[in-house]
Amino acid sequence: MTSRVPALIVHGGAGADPQEGREELREGIRQAVQAGWDALEAGGSSLDAVEAAVRVLEDHPRFNAGRGSVLTSAGTVEMDASIMEGNELRNGAVGSVTAIRHPISLARRILESGRHSLFVGAGAVERARAFGIPPCDPAELITERQQKRLRAVQAGTVGAVAMDRRGVIAAATSTGGMAGKLPGRVGDSALIGCGTYAESNLGGVSCTGDGEAIIRVVLARRALETLKSVDDPGQACRVAVDVLVEEGRGQGGLILVDWRGRTGWAHSTPLLPVGFMSPSHAAPIVPF
Ligand code: ASP
Repeated sequence: MTSRVPALIVHGGAGADPQEGREELREGIRQAVQAGWDALEAGGSSLDAVEAAVRVLEDHPRFNAGRGSVLTSAGTVEMDASIMEGNELRNGAVGSVTAIRHPISLARRILESGRHSLFVGAGAVERARAFGIPPCDPAELITERQQKRLRAVQAGTVGAVAMDRRGVIAAATSTGGMAGKLPGRVGDSALIGCGTYAESNLGGVSCTGDGEAIIRVVLARRALETLKSVDDPGQACRVAVDVLVEEGRGQGGLILVDWRGRTGWAHSTPLLPVGFMSPSHAAPIVPF
C-alpha cells in the first residue's frame, strides 16, 4: 500500500462578506477541518474525512446546509448534497430533500449501496428510512435567522475535499440551495461533475455559488481538466472561476486538492470561507 501525505480543505460557501460574526464562521470552519483531519489521522478514508467535515457544518446554524439552510419561496427547506470518491468514481447524491439532518450522510449511503447515483424528494427520504437514518422534524432545520431572511449574515453552501494516505481523493458538497428558490429546484450541489467531482489521479473539487451558472459550465470537472494543463491547484481554480464568470455568467468559488495533495481555492465573490490542514501544520489554517 502506498503511503501518501494526506490533505484536507473545507469551504463554507461563496458569498457576501458578513463583516460581523466572522470569528463564528472561522470557528465553524476550524471545527470542520479538525473533524475531517481526526478521521484521516484515525486511519479513515478520504470519504470518511469529507463526510465528517461536512456534517459539522450541516449542524452549524451559520452555514447554508442542514440546519440553517436557506428557505425556498414557500418558506421550506429543500437540500441538495453529493459525494464522490476518485478511485472507482463511485458517487451518491440527493436533491430537494427535506426532513434529513445530514444530507451528506444519506448521499454517502447511496454511494455505498452502488445501484443508483441520485435520489430526489420523497424517494430520497424513503431511501433514508430504508438505510435506518431517522427523519427529523423539518421545523428543526429552520433557524430564526433564515426566517428573518438576514441574508447578508448567512454564509453559503459547504464542501470538503480530502486525500488519504492511500492516495484516494474524495469530495463532498451540501447545501440548502439559493434563498427564495422555487420549490423543486435542484442546483449544482446535487450534480456530479458540476458541484462535486473526484478522480484520484487528477484531483477533487467542491464548488459553490450561482448553481445555474455552475451547471452551465460543468465547473468541478472543468477545473480538473484545467489542472491537467496548468499543474497548479490555485491557478486551476482561478481559471475555473474566470470560466464561471465569463461563460457561466455567474459568481462563486471552488476548492481543490490535486493528486500530489496540494490544495487550492479561488472565488469571485467578496468572501469564500476556507480552512485546510496537512501534516506540516500543527493546527487547521483558516486564512480569512
Ligand atoms: N451552489 C448552490 C446552489 O446553487 C448555492 C451556493 O453555493 O451557495 O444551490
